[in-house]
Amino acid sequence: PRLANQIAAGEVVERPASVVKELVENSLDAGASKIEIDIEKGGHKRIRLRDNGCGIDKQELELALSRHATSKISTLDDLEQILSLGFRGEALASISSVSRLTLTSKPASQAQAWQAHCEGREMAVKLNPVAHPDGTTIDVADLFYNTPARRKFLRAEKTEFQHIDDVIRRIALSHPEVTFILRHNDKVMRRFLAVDKTDFAARIAAVAGQKFVRNAVYCHSEYHGITLEAWLGNEHVLRSSTDCQFSFVNGRGMRDKLILHAIRQAYESAWGTVEQPAFVVYLTVPPSDVDVNVHPAKHEVRFQQSRLVHDFISKTVADALQPQSD
Ligand code: ADP
Ligand code: MG
Repeated sequence: PRLANQIAAGEVVERPASVVKELVENSLDAGASKIEIDIEKGGHKRIRLRDNGCGIDKQELELALSRHATSKISTLDDLEQILSLGFRGEALASISSVSRLTLTSKPASQAQAWQAHCEGREMAVKLNPVAHPDGTTIDVADLFYNTPARRKFLRAEKTEFQHIDDVIRRIALSHPEVTFILRHNDKVMRRFLAVDKTDFAARIAAVAGQKFVRNAVYCHSEYHGITLEAWLGNEHVLRSSTDCQFSFVNGRGMRDKLILHAIRQAYESAWGTVEQPAFVVYLTVPPSDVDVNVHPAKHEVRFQQSRLVHDFISKTVADALQPQSD
């Protein structure tokens, strides 16, 4: 399974930012209200995440690291098939196959915290009792140390950190109720303090700047069970905000072409050509109307009624952007 894990890791673990994304999503799944992420050297050297979530039972620790469907791989065809499907539900196993991973956890119900360390060709997991508060710490050191080809693709420290920062900002925008603290080489780079879970404006202000929220056009609309809540950048912030395009579908960050197209079209019809509109858009659709698993890695969705969704977004945004005539 070692080889299979490494091949799988190539898919899930593209770069340090992909590790961070998987780890943060696990913490959110665990109900954490505080997540601290420490990065060293753009994540090449170390990614350490601490949360105050539900923790992992001692007897589950090994399982969390080793569970892996790819152990069933016997032919190249199997492999190709799995690669084309992407790997879900196996992030920790994949990451541990290409790094020196230490997992420490204490569920509130357990008196003692346990630490699992995973390294070496057989992926032998060793368990030790340690001191640790309720919650989980995952330490991922020397990412890709044993996969030189993958390591070669790593960019400069600053670039890799930028990707990590993007991941954190994006996730933070859809979880105002969670505190996120991001450090790079011991310096605090982001500190988003928890607010009410519906207070998106406060979280957007923390992530995209007070100025963005103050100047943005706000809109909120509902149609056939679809709701759209959006903060639309005005001319003032447009030119400098190429990095501020965020869309969410049912709470998940998406870079969906249909959504982007609808928004761009709305800006163009309201204001003429706009190269990079800045926006934060939350779309909620009935779960039965959307397939989010079309392309998990590419953050794309498929809507049952894509035309309707597109036109609803486009019209709502265009209307909001029209200059008020009173
Ligand atoms: P998945 O999240 O798809 O189940 P992962 O490999 O990401 O697969 O995680 C494996 C398991 O380890 C999870 O299902 C969960 O039970 C446990 N786990 C991972 N991270 C955490 C965490 N931060 N807190 C609590 N449990 C965790
Ligand atoms: Mg996971």
